[in-house]
Order: sequence, then structure tokens, then C-alpha cells
Amino acid sequence: MKEFDLAVIGAGINGAGIARDAAMRGISVVVLEQNDLCSGTSAVSSRLIHGGLRYLEHFEIPLVYESLHERRYLRQIAAHLVKPLRITIPIYESAKRGPLLIRLGMIVYDILSMGKRMPGHDMLDADELLEAAPGLRREGLCAGARYYDAQVTFAERLVLENLLAARAAGASIRTYCRARKIGVKAGCIDEILFEDTITGEQGSLTASVVVNAAGPWVDQVLGIAADNPKQLIGGTKGSHIVVGRFEGAPVDAFYIEAEADARPLFIIPWNDQLLIGTTDIRYKDSLQEVRASRAEVDYLLAETNRVFPSARLAVGDIHYAYAGIRPLPHRVKGPESAISRKHVIKKNKAIAKGLISVVGGKLTTYRHLAEQTVDRVGKMLQRRTAPCRSFDTPLPGGWGFDAAKDELQSLAILSEQGLERLLSIYGGRATQIVELCRRKPALNRCIDAEQTVLAAEVVFGIRDEMARTLSDLVYRRLMLGLNADQGRRHYNKIAAIAAAELAWDERRMTDELNALQQYSDSFRVVE
Ligand SMILES: Cc1cc2nc3c(=O)[nH]c(=O)nc-3n(C[C@H](O)[C@H](O)[C@H](O)COP(=O)(O)OP(=O)(O)OC[C@H]3O[C@@H](n4cnc5c(N)ncnc54)[C@H](O)[C@@H]3O)c2cc1C
Repeated sequence: MKEFDLAVIGAGINGAGIARDAAMRGISVVVLEQNDLCSGTSAVSSRLIHGGLRYLEHFEIPLVYESLHERRYLRQIAAHLVKPLRITIPIYESAKRGPLLIRLGMIVYDILSMGKRMPGHDMLDADELLEAAPGLRREGLCAGARYYDAQVTFAERLVLENLLAARAAGASIRTYCRARKIGVKAGCIDEILFEDTITGEQGSLTASVVVNAAGPWVDQVLGIAADNPKQLIGGTKGSHIVVGRFEGAPVDAFYIEAEADARPLFIIPWNDQLLIGTTDIRYKDSLQEVRASRAEVDYLLAETNRVFPSARLAVGDIHYAYAGIRPLPHRVKGPESAISRKHVIKKNKAIAKGLISVVGGKLTTYRHLAEQTVDRVGKMLQRRTAPCRSFDTPLPGGWGFDAAKDELQSLAILSEQGLERLLSIYGGRATQIVELCRRKPALNRCIDAEQTVLAAEVVFGIRDEMARTLSDLVYRRLMLGLNADQGRRHYNKIAAIAAAELAWDERRMTDELNALQQYSDSFRVVE
């Protein structure tokens, strides 16, 4: 049994951020994650690092200010993952939010963004809008606005890099390791029992403080510490569809108002495709397999076709769809959109001293949430910890871009597209992949005709990035699972390299391939 200061349950963005900050401040940390890292809500968002213009409608000025502040930090510490995104809002005569209201929102957003190194907004007339986006519906178009936010194409890699930073600072990261029981003795945390969900092995550890960062599973984790704990989470479901670029598709991201219910929706250029979402529906069902419903898919298709008539999107055009549950605070009444996206760090004193749960939050604000949580952990440990440096310490891949580019070029086997791909995934850490290619010449080859994917990435994912299954590699390390074909043409080649590295026998390799196919199929939308 090992002893830690802090056990973090959940390796989504919040758990990963907390682990990084705590380990960098000298706290001994273990992270327990029941699946692979970033396999919960953090993998199914709109992938925006944004102030949240919409929150202004609910007068959540401090949340918008905090988010815009964090957007700047993330651009600095993870420039390879977080990129600026220009967003256009078309305004139609029938819209609930007219030009005056939008303009007012834009001015407030600009003021709150001041000093954050992003250009301010522009207001556009109908002709300017149509020139920028010829596919846009003309009838009723009266004006528009254009502003900047940011996008994290691969949120999965943001989570991973936080965990890698935590590990480099001494944290122990255990994926596929489910917390099964949090023992409580005399009002304090006692043993934590866990189980490896791949091997079935059981184990235990002790920690003075436990942070429950289990996202939508927060109440379930409280349930392994106490009988009938008070419900903290009131999840809402959000779905996205991913389609190819259609005729007249916009170059900018578009923020539109849905005709059916006046909700704001995004159509976002992402990963050479368009990411369209989202919905917001109270959710009480199983968290096991959350999938986009046909009604949600039809709603997203109809609203996109209405604003971009040339799209003529149908179910058959969808590459895949994904859905997830926002771990929002439990609210019985009121519209879903009015539930605050502000996070709450809740001490669960009624269950045990030393137990904290994280409720709500956004990808955008994870770093600040982590800082606030670790401040509390430090107080609970009655220890002076080192000051927080998560805001100005680059993530492991967040520096050394020029050197990485030179190194990749020196391999002389990658196409321009391949070079870009590796830099956008690994940032400065691409240098380590080149070193691996030099040490193991058999891995110094591309697995595709377009020369975009290196064989060495598979071994790197296993040795350096904690991948344990084929799905981990395809969806959360090499990021091929998010391509239009879900990376299917690469599965056999990746499986062969992984099998050699992990000494999988024929049967294990077949099982891994079947599990991956099944996982990919689960995102398909059937006509
Ligand atoms: C549709 C949608 C769109 C969104 N869009 C945006 C956006 O554009 N920008 C933005 O900033 N935010 C966005 N968000 C919000 C953001 O994605 C979430 O707030 C955030 O990802 C929550 O992260 P988390 O770490 O708390 O939870 P999760 O990512 O769900 O992580 C919790 C982890 O805990 C693990 N776990 C659970 N139980 C156990 C156990 N017993 N033992 C071990 N591990 C366990 C789970 O497996 C999971 O990996 C969106 C959310 C949704 C749903």
C-alpha cells in the first residue's frame, strides 16, 4: 500500500489540471482513472477555449472575465494545441437577438478581453457577410458580427500533456484503474480501494486528501464513500455531428441562432471537417454509453441547412457524432441554458474531512479551477506549498517548436501535411519522436501513402504517453480516430506495431481490433 498526500479521482481535464498543479507545488499525487485519460466529457465538447459570449445573457460577467483571462494563459502555455478562431454571427430579421443586442454583447466582450492579445470585433452588413460566406442564406439577413476566440483541436492532448507534466513532477498516473471504495474512519479518509479494469487486479492506497474530479460521475464516486450522499450533479446532455466541408461552407466558425428554439449553435471548421453542435437537454439515464439521439441529429442538420441552404446535409453525410454530459450543478427547475457554467469546489465535510468534489466548469477554466483546488488541498494538508506556476510554465510540448520542425524535416520522410500534423499534435515533443526514429530505424517510416503518420508514434504512445489499448492509440494519442474515416484504414498497421511492442499474441490483437471497430461504430449515425 502506497501513501500519498493527494489522490485525484478522474483524469478528465479537471483531474489532469489538478494533478499537474499539485505535483508542481511539491504535493505527492496519485491519479486514478477508470478508463483511458480523457475518455469522459472532456473528449466530447465543442473544443472552444472561449469567454462564452452566451453567458453575458445571464449576466455571468465574472465567468466571462475569468474565461477570457484563462484563454490567454492557455494560448501561452499550449500554443501548439490552442489556436485563435474567428467567429461570425449572422443576424436575421426574425432573430431573437437583434443587431443592437449583439453589438452591445460584442462591446462588453471586447472590454472584458482587454489586454488579452486578440483583435476586437467588427460589425458587418449583409453584403460583407455574403462576400465572406457565399453559402449563407440571403433572405432576411440584415447584419452580422465577427470576433475572435480560440479552439483546442485535440482536447485529448491537452489532458494528456497536463498528466505528463504531473508525472514529470513526480505524480503517479494510473489509467484503467477504477476507485471502488473510499474508506472513512473517524470522519477522515482511510484506505482507497481500486481495481485495474483491464487485468482485474485489486489494490489499495492511502491519501490525506481525495479530490473527486469524476465529472458526471461525481455523485457515483461520493456513493463509494458514503450511503445516500446529497446529489451534487444535474447533468445535461450535449451532442455534436461531424461532417465534411460542403459547397459554400464557411471559412470562419459560425455562431447561429436556432430557429426551433432560439438556442445558439456553432458550426466550426475543425480537423479538416465541420463540427456542428450542440444541444442541451437534462439527462438522468446511464452514463455508460451516451450517444447523440436521432432527434438531436435531425435538429443539428435542419438548423445548419437553414442557414447554409447549399449544404443540403443529410444523415448520410455525417462522418460521426458524439455526445456527452455536462457535469453541471444539480438544479431542479429552469431552462438548461440558465444553469451556470461556473465551477464549484465543494468540501464534502459531512462525509469525510479531506474529501473535495469538483462540480461544473469548462475546459477553458480548468487551470484556474485546479489552482483554486490545490490552494485548498494545501490548507487541508496544513502545509506551505510552493506558489502556483501553472499559468506561465509551458506544457511539455508547448515550447521548442522551431527545433522540432527542423528535426522532423531532417527525417526527410514526412510530407508538408505530415509535418504540420505532428507539430499540431506533439508540439516541441516531436523531437523525442525523431530521437526514437534514430534509435530504432525500423520505426523511421510512414504508415500511410500520404506520408503523414510515423510508425514511431505508435511506440512513443505506448512508452511515453501511457497508451494501453489500440483505441487509446487511435483516438487519444495519434488522433486518427477523429478523421473523416475515423482512421479505419490505419487500424491493422497500428495494431501490428502495438502488438510487437506490447508482446500481444494473435488472440489479444484480434480482441483489440474488434474492440476498436466496435468503439468506432458506436459513433456512427445510422440512416
Ligand atoms: C456538449 C458539450 C460541449 C462543451 N463545450 C465546451 C467548450 O466548447 N468549451 C469549454 O470550455 N467547455 C465545454 N464543455 C464543458 C467541458 O467539456 C467540461 O466541463 C469538462 O470537460 C469536464 O471535465 P471533467 O474533468 O470534470 O470531467 P470528465 O472529462 O468527464 O472526466 C471525469 C473522469 O472521471 C473518471 N471517473 C469516473 N468515475 C471514476 C472512478 N470511480 N474511478 C476512476 N475514475 C473515474 C471518468 O472515466 C472520466 O474520465 C462542454 C461540455 C459538453 C458536454
